Amino acid sequence: MSGNIMKDFALGLGSLFYPRLCEGCSKSLLAEEEVLCLNCNVFNLPRTAYHHIAENETYMRFAGRVPVVRATSFAYFTADGLLQHLLHGLKYDDKKEIGIYLGKQLGYDLQQLNWHKGIDYIVPVPLHPAKEAQRGYNQTQLIAEGMGEVLQLPVLGSLLYRTRHTDSQTQKTREERISNMVGAFAVKDTTNYTGKHFLLIDDVLTTGATLEACAQALLTIPHATVSIATVGVAN
Ligand SMILES: [Zn+2]
Repeated sequence: MSGNIMKDFALGLGSLFYPRLCEGCSKSLLAEEEVLCLNCNVFNLPRTAYHHIAENETYMRFAGRVPVVRATSFAYFTADGLLQHLLHGLKYDDKKEIGIYLGKQLGYDLQQLNWHKGIDYIVPVPLHPAKEAQRGYNQTQLIAEGMGEVLQLPVLGSLLYRTRHTDSQTQKTREERISNMVGAFAVKDTTNYTGKHFLLIDDVLTTGATLEACAQALLTIPHATVSIATVGVAN
């Protein structure tokens, strides 16, 4: 019996006892569906289509601050929206499959336009090690892995690291957030990645302070270039 048949059999048995439910509407998922049913995927994830537009909202948040080649976000992040629910499950409810799933959705969009052409590596924004130990994983690493699978690009999960713990950003203004983040990240290896083009990944773009600091760190690598992609974009 082939591995796939065994896998399908096991999945089928599993769903007898634990039916897999859509994270959006709680209907049973079909065998080929993951995380969301087709209806929720198509109608309840409000896509930005930013990858079609060079000077889109995500790109403009970095313009004049840090040089990025391209930037895009997959969907609008709104309070109480489906994307907010999915990211909450990913971060606080141990639903790692959501990270892989969202990374794949972003990857499929970019693949259609060959948006990732010329990019050498995917680099997720690192969590502070204490936070990663507490959660057990870095949710952005999972998003990067899902993307990497679709786009056939390697993921460098430990090239960037946090140099220090940063205070909570939530009560700060944009300028305070940015100054709080200056020098908060560094790269482990600046010699083996000369001239490479990195695709920096995060879950949601808010002020962009974290991504900006990460991009600055990557740009300390000689002749490196950086593009940015996030799953969500918040206003
Ligand atoms: Zn659904």
